[in-house]
Amino acid sequence: MDIYCGQCGEPWENDTLHEVSGLDYIQAAAAFKLRGCAALMEPPRPYCKASPVVSSDELAGIVAAMELSDYPDEWDYDLAREIFA
Ligand SMILES: [Zn+2]
Repeated sequence: MDIYCGQCGEPWENDTLHEVSGLDYIQAAAAFKLRGCAALMEPPRPYCKASPVVSSDELAGIVAAMELSDYPDEWDYDLAREIFA
């Protein structure tokens, strides 16, 4: 399953959260929520500053999906996008 950056909307492989050095999976998920894909880069950057590749409605849905849970498995992007579409 893919996860989506709340800043730029780019998809990332969920498994990337297992590969963030110094953080466990849940810590990496929290960092991704807060800092976007910048948290998953090697080396990590403070904050994703990329221009969004999706519409602002879609971005709102992505952010809302991440608010549903601390667990990426429960980030229901389809549901969130329906609400914000
Ligand atoms: Zn990003």
